[in-house]
Amino acid sequence: AEPSPNSTVVLHACLGVGHLIPMVELAKQLLRRGLAVIIAVPTPPASTADYFASSASAVAALAAANPAVSFHHLPAPDYPAPDPDPFLQMLDALRLTVLSLTAFLRSLPSVAGLVLDLFCGDALDAAASTGIPAYFYYTSCAGVLAAFLYLPHYFATTEGGPSFKDMGKALLQFPGVPPIPASDMPHTVLDRTSRTCASRIVHYGRIPEARGVLINTYEWLEARVVRALRDGVCVPGRPTPPVYPIGPLIVKGEEAAEEGERHVCLSWLDAQPERSVVFLCFGSLGAVSAAQIKEIARGLGSSGHRFLWVVRSPPEDPAKFFLARPEPDLDLLLPEGFLERTSDRGMVVKMWAPQVEVLRHAATGAFMTHCGWNSVLEAASAGVPMLCWPMYAEQRLNKVFVVDEIKAGVVMDGYDEELVRAEEVEKKVRLVMESEEGEKLRERLAMAKEKAAEALADGGPSSLAFEEFLKDLKLAK
Ligand code: UDP
Repeated sequence: AEPSPNSTVVLHACLGVGHLIPMVELAKQLLRRGLAVIIAVPTPPASTADYFASSASAVAALAAANPAVSFHHLPAPDYPAPDPDPFLQMLDALRLTVLSLTAFLRSLPSVAGLVLDLFCGDALDAAASTGIPAYFYYTSCAGVLAAFLYLPHYFATTEGGPSFKDMGKALLQFPGVPPIPASDMPHTVLDRTSRTCASRIVHYGRIPEARGVLINTYEWLEARVVRALRDGVCVPGRPTPPVYPIGPLIVKGEEAAEEGERHVCLSWLDAQPERSVVFLCFGSLGAVSAAQIKEIARGLGSSGHRFLWVVRSPPEDPAKFFLARPEPDLDLLLPEGFLERTSDRGMVVKMWAPQVEVLRHAATGAFMTHCGWNSVLEAASAGVPMLCWPMYAEQRLNKVFVVDEIKAGVVMDGYDEELVRAEEVEKKVRLVMESEEGEKLRERLAMAKEKAAEALADGGPSSLAFEEFLKDLKLAK
């Protein structure tokens, strides 16, 4: 249908596969309810094009797979000298994009609302100058949002105190969430004197300026923190905007399957017994060292369990972590004879697997994950227990909530050391696949799966939250 120009919602995404996927899912929800939607994506500066190569191809793939969703590429602004820190460079790029976003918003006949990725906080200025109501869409969990909302207060009231990086595993007590070991805070805020931390705090402090915050979670999964956010106890001394837990908005496996040929790993899974396979996959960027690949292989070998493992090339240089990497050379990376020895019970896939379909497959029994929030939601919706191995971004925090609060997984000890040992891989695989504790996890996840479906059904809590958001959007006009 021809979109009505009076009800266009502009979604401002940031680059990053894990951010783009849920943004497209949000767009689909709005389209289903008859609104016109445009996803405005920034153009990365040429100097950092390498860093965003995978995102650029993800935008193209998502656009091709979702013809109903329109994408608008915001032109690249003039960049001053690029920041040597790629993260700050990304934030700079988003800040400088506010001008072209403002111009774009002015060029549209009428915009009902602007929905911002949490990294796009500077775009609140574009909303203010055009008089368009602004909302955030947080594509990670409510627990992390609560921690972020509290951080400006935390830093203001502990001035002169130690940085998280110097506090080891000391427990931080933030409202609404379980105690968080300081060392599990995201690396961007570990050093309170750093420029990155200063910039994050400014952004977190601005979240309450939005008219509301959509969160890709569901109430059952994070009941306590959703209540705390609604009670306004996460931002001391200021009102918290309404929160709308509208998730889990994830890719539907069946849709993905229709698009192309079925991946060979799915046929392989067809031949495995129910719930017998451990799936290992570390997000769109996660890759481990060559030594770590060998440890995982040894652990999987001695566990005796079936496995499906997505292997990437190790990053040669930690500074180049976010760069696209070549295909892995399995002969070089895996222990000699590993593939032959495990050929009757294991499969190694290079680079990428259709994760949602794998998780929904009856043969999948456990998921070793880097705890990216999309991965967590996909596992919860499929009822698969997690072996949590956080790697980058806010994943250590996600791990705290998945294990301590949601009770949907176990920790891979050593995630914060140089190596997770083979013995640990074997131990945790056995724990989840064989023990009574594993059985309890499975029961918990079966409930998580049921509640996820309920949340999204007509009249379910996430559908109702979405309706509330739409009502507010109308009121705001
Ligand atoms: N993904 C996938 N196959 C892979 C790796 C990742 O389909 O081999 C998908 C996964 O299903 C999820 C997204 O990519 O939807 C990754 O998002 P997440 O938030 O888990 O992690 P990020 O990539 O942002 O770290």
